[in-house]
Amino acid sequence: MSNNPARLEINAAALRFNLQYFRNLLKPSTQILAVVKANGYGCGSSYIGKILEQEHIDYLCVAYLQEGIALRKVNIKSPILILFPQIESLDQLIAHHLEPNLYSLSSLKAFINALKKTKKVNYPIHLKLNTGMNRLGFTKDEIPQLQSILRQEKNIMVKSICTHFASSGEDRDREFTKTQIDRYINLYNALTSVLDYSPKKHVSNTSGIINYPEYQFDMVRLGLGLYGFGNDAQVTHHLKLVPRLKTNIFQLQYLQKGETVGYNRAFTTKTQSTIAIIPLGYSDGLDRRLSNHVGCVFINGKKAPIVGMVCMDMTMVDVTDIACKVGDEVIIFDHQDHILEMAKNLDTISYEIITTISPRIERILK
Ligand SMILES: *Cc1c(COP(=O)(O)O)cnc(C)c1O
Repeated sequence: MSNNPARLEINAAALRFNLQYFRNLLKPSTQILAVVKANGYGCGSSYIGKILEQEHIDYLCVAYLQEGIALRKVNIKSPILILFPQIESLDQLIAHHLEPNLYSLSSLKAFINALKKTKKVNYPIHLKLNTGMNRLGFTKDEIPQLQSILRQEKNIMVKSICTHFASSGEDRDREFTKTQIDRYINLYNALTSVLDYSPKKHVSNTSGIINYPEYQFDMVRLGLGLYGFGNDAQVTHHLKLVPRLKTNIFQLQYLQKGETVGYNRAFTTKTQSTIAIIPLGYSDGLDRRLSNHVGCVFINGKKAPIVGMVCMDMTMVDVTDIACKVGDEVIIFDHQDHILEMAKNLDTISYEIITTISPRIERILK
């Protein structure tokens, strides 16, 4: 039994396997920008970043500056793209040699000003175009101003120009996705007409890679797929799950018929029952809406339903029909199907399940 009440085991071999799976889907010339935001989709960005660096990943990418600094602090040398740089902290971004994805005239101007305070030339930046996601990005109207800035500023080097699909996973939105590509190509051509070099093109996330091989361009932004999920069951089952959430039985309670379990006495035993207490609760990321038979865990190969309300640090499961003892391993998830089932029960997506495992849970590299 581990010293840790609960742990998230990170399967390095699975990560390498998934990376290779996507490399095989892509042309040899297509680069991969591995997305390790949100603490490497919950897996620990320094572990994930290091493994990917050993695998000669072309680029890493995080959402916010602090995530990029955390990677630099563990000595990761790969180029790192910051998807959502804040205007207030561009000096720090430059100091750590991180590459901003600039998304508006004000963010671009602020970056140019920050760069002027340094002696750096040809600093790599990336431009984000809004083609229909309507989240971040330059719009068509801003192109003339953007062109004139690009003509003048020689300290910056536009490494890439990208956009983001609103619905690359949905078959019914194929037409819309094509419209996004048309807009993207038009804006890309307008911008590069004022440059004497060609920034890389990239648009696809995991489901884009799978559904639109024709739009892989120079680079793709691979997130969820690395951790073990495609956008349908078929691809998912070709991949291997990276994070596996486990703990051990903390105590057993032997109850008579008609006794209640936990807060608000939410569950009443229907027969003489054995209840296992597991040291993991909603503050660890085990959603409280999994209470009372919505969710389950796995003990000695059998399903044990959650009974009563998930507590902050503890959860009770019914093991009446399972031979088990204190210290036995409890699996919250160690297969994609466990996470997909949990996501379905919670009316959410696999992304949310894996990225909300709290920092209290130790990440252990396996
Ligand atoms: C998170 C993110 C990705 C990765 O998406 P996945 O679906 O996890 O592959 C790619 N691009 C942008 C802009 C993102 O925010």
